[in-house]
Amino acid sequence: MDTPAENGPSASDRGAGPDIHPQETAISEIGEFGLIAHLRDTLGESDDDSILEGIADDAAVYRVSDDTVHVVTTDALIEGVHFDRTFMPMEHLGFKAMSANVSDVAAMNARPRYATVVVGVPKNASVEAMGTLYQGIKQACDAYGITVIGGDTTGAHSLSVTVTVIGEAAEDEIVYRRGSKPGDKICVTGDLGASYAGLKVLLLQREQLQQQGEDFQPHLDKFSYVIRRHLAPPAQLQAVRNWKEAGFRPSSLIDVSDGLASEVHHLCEASGTRAQLYEPSIPISPHTRNAATEFGEEVTVYALFGGEDYELVFTASEEQLQDLDPQSFNVIGEMEAPEEDLPRVQLKQADGDNVRVRPGGFDHFGDDQPQG
Ligand SMILES: [Mg+2]
Repeated sequence: MDTPAENGPSASDRGAGPDIHPQETAISEIGEFGLIAHLRDTLGESDDDSILEGIADDAAVYRVSDDTVHVVTTDALIEGVHFDRTFMPMEHLGFKAMSANVSDVAAMNARPRYATVVVGVPKNASVEAMGTLYQGIKQACDAYGITVIGGDTTGAHSLSVTVTVIGEAAEDEIVYRRGSKPGDKICVTGDLGASYAGLKVLLLQREQLQQQGEDFQPHLDKFSYVIRRHLAPPAQLQAVRNWKEAGFRPSSLIDVSDGLASEVHHLCEASGTRAQLYEPSIPISPHTRNAATEFGEEVTVYALFGGEDYELVFTASEEQLQDLDPQSFNVIGEMEAPEEDLPRVQLKQADGDNVRVRPGGFDHFGDDQPQG
């Protein structure tokens, strides 16, 4: 999903097709999630009982034998929407396209095994550039233990990389978004907001490059952590491996692709719970704080709404959490029973205020995001 608005397509790249007919509905009226729901309704329900999960989770799950399931997920990265070739090295693009999918497999508590890759190749992409893209894909294959078993290449107006990853697990290992219970702790691996901070730095550098031309000297060193987290984020597969070794299975699980706020809403909606988050507990790297300070912005906004961190948000009882290395995660809140008068997700701030968090913004920012 194209979270950071600065990276979205401009009005001039709407495509070459005809305008929307006055009696038709613009997609912006229903949003991305509304569109997904509409398309799912168009396909209808399946009565195939080998399908354990369809469109509603990080990856689909289907049974292949008595105790083995496969998970499958697919994700596209499109030039001009998800990345800008002026600052996205080809190698990192390949790695990121793989990571985004592996992250969704990890978010089902499964092991990735196979991938297919479809590349849309514009006229101005060289053989060397495409080779470098595939070096990044190969690095990801080595890091995550997967093999590319097929794909497609096609001419295109802009560069795109669409990856499908198939993973495997025992049926009882799979963790869905829907399993959390009141009283469960809400936990997160790693730190949040770095990818968005990295994007902000890169966009600013691009602007300065355009203004100053060849005299421009980029100052990227002090931002190298956040830039790397944006360009080549790792998927948290090691967490899933460690959990298996520790005999730990979360009650619910999702990866951070659209931002913590959106992901916690998904867990609550699927599980029928509400969430109380604690702002001071949200893990944020000092590098991300420095970047936010430089831009004069609230770093919590980066962590809640930035996206593309590819960390894992999971829930478990306090007792279950004893099985884990306490260094490997942070408790950022708690699941509670839903109450009619209380918002789905609240954030207790350092000053004691408990504010409503919507999937895409705070209430006190006066935005008009959809109800959470
Ligand atoms: Mg996901």
